[in-house]
Amino acid sequence: MKICRFDDNRLGLVQGESVLDVTAALDALPAYRYPLPRTDQLIENLDMLKPHILEAAKGAKAIPLAQVKLLSPVANPGKIVAAPVNYKAHLEESRNDVEINFNRKVIEIQTIGLFLKATSSIVGASEGVAVSMPERRNDHEIELVAIIGKPARNVSKEDALDYVAAYCIGLDMTIRGQEERSMRKSLDTFTVLGPWMVTPDEVGEPNSQQMVLTVNDEPRQNANTGDLIMTVRDLISWASSFYTLQPGDILMTGTPDGVNRVTPGDTISATIDKIGAMKVQVRAG
Ligand code: MN
Repeated sequence: MKICRFDDNRLGLVQGESVLDVTAALDALPAYRYPLPRTDQLIENLDMLKPHILEAAKGAKAIPLAQVKLLSPVANPGKIVAAPVNYKAHLEESRNDVEINFNRKVIEIQTIGLFLKATSSIVGASEGVAVSMPERRNDHEIELVAIIGKPARNVSKEDALDYVAAYCIGLDMTIRGQEERSMRKSLDTFTVLGPWMVTPDEVGEPNSQQMVLTVNDEPRQNANTGDLIMTVRDLISWASSFYTLQPGDILMTGTPDGVNRVTPGDTISATIDKIGAMKVQVRAG
């Protein structure tokens, strides 16, 4: 199942080149009042909602994908967990390029651990990326994203994929410089999620996904998640040994080599097998 959020917070079921408006399914969500749980209610209730989504899809009019504004498939994640330097070739390029490492030692993921990004940085594919510090180097990083579906604490590697509700494409936009990753990667619009989310039954093995990123049709990144240093299973298990992963939490699994700058006016195209493709415009911010 491919589920999107679009236009004015509509819920969509993606079929081929069309979106079926299934917003009526959200009526099945329980009523909430303050204080809200630190979870995403759509993801937390996704299994319960699936029959409602299919019911709402019956007779729903098909809207061409090209006509809708795609928002982040997850509206309210509690946290964004992200993996640094999780591909060997990207570790090497980071160590070899002073514009990436700023004369700091690039430490392996197993030693430096995972980092967190601000949830305020999240946008969908159609919302675009804003470059608010054009004097700095602003880089693209394509990443496979796993969306956590249920509370995960001290999960084994063997069981880890049972905790994934869906996958999507992520752009972990980054300013290069001396600051901590959590600051350099948390500017508004610097976490692009999309174009929609795809349930695990349609994705299969997350460790063999080809991913391609181009800028203005120029090849930049082209790699396979089979080259991840820490796999999706490893990352979920490891993260959950430090903190509880909650429904809706976003896990960005790291970017391969080929990272490079973008500037206002650029168009980023990002594709991951069995998930889809998205175009993201870069503008001055
Ligand atoms: Mn990254």
